[in-house]
Amino acid sequence: MQLEGKVALVTGGASGIGRATALLLASEGARVVVSDVNVDGGEETTRLIHQSNGGAMFVKADVSKAAEVEAMVTLLMDTYGRLDCAINNAGVGGTMTPTDKYTEEEWDFVMGINLKGVWLCMKYEIPAMLKTGGAIVNVASAAGLVGFRYNSAYAASKHGVIGLTRSAALEYARKGIRVNAVCPGFTQTPMVEAMETLNPKMTEATINAIPMRRLGTPEEIAQSVLWLCSDASSFVTGHALAIDGGTVVQ
Ligand code: NAD
Repeated sequence: MQLEGKVALVTGGASGIGRATALLLASEGARVVVSDVNVDGGEETTRLIHQSNGGAMFVKADVSKAAEVEAMVTLLMDTYGRLDCAINNAGVGGTMTPTDKYTEEEWDFVMGINLKGVWLCMKYEIPAMLKTGGAIVNVASAAGLVGFRYNSAYAASKHGVIGLTRSAALEYARKGIRVNAVCPGFTQTPMVEAMETLNPKMTEATINAIPMRRLGTPEEIAQSVLWLCSDASSFVTGHALAIDGGTVVQ
């Protein structure tokens, strides 16, 4: 029970990495606020937590909209009175498109959720977290550490998340808030399954590019998020942790 008595927020908690993280943090004793635009999926995550006798609440919020993020954090604080761990995980993959073929609309969509969304969450989480101290974990990507052919908006958004993470880590290092990022490689979630559906050859090519020759699981990413939330990583801040079967060190 590494998170007994703590309150955690997981955005994008309806699916994939977010759901696995919400379930793991709850199993470690945290009360978890699950947030997403997907109401059915978010409510299913909270149902799974309640089924295991954990504490959880679903709040619908679009991370790209300031008013919705502010209302989410306000409701969390009114309900639980504290915020110890914030997992800024909500994200979209965008389409596999060469840089010169990206439309302005699609660029803004990917950036609005993946980069502005993480900043907006931090903007409202940090004042709440300053009351008790805490840990923020931003879900970036291996594509935040190296280039990602045909998905430059996604890669740029995730490089941006790492820049945000490092900068905020410096700002709050003496104020009791640690800020880190995880950088998953290809992980078996609906996001990757959608890419595979679009391009059936993708799975084989993707797996062949991973030194461990397999995709990650959402549970493997969640374990690193738990470590970065917990006191076990109490001297770690500003770090971007690759969890990718060796992909970015090739
Ligand atoms: P997923 O599609 O299973 O889950 C993403 C969740 O984010 C969904 O529940 C979706 O409804 C939610 N979401 C999307 N837009 C939102 C918005 N505007 N506001 C609130 N919620 C929103 O995908 P996943 O693979 O679990 O991805 C989770 C995070 O991990 C993302 O940030 C993604 O970029 C990152 N990531 C995933 C992989 C991978 O291979 N799956 C690799 C690296 C990084």
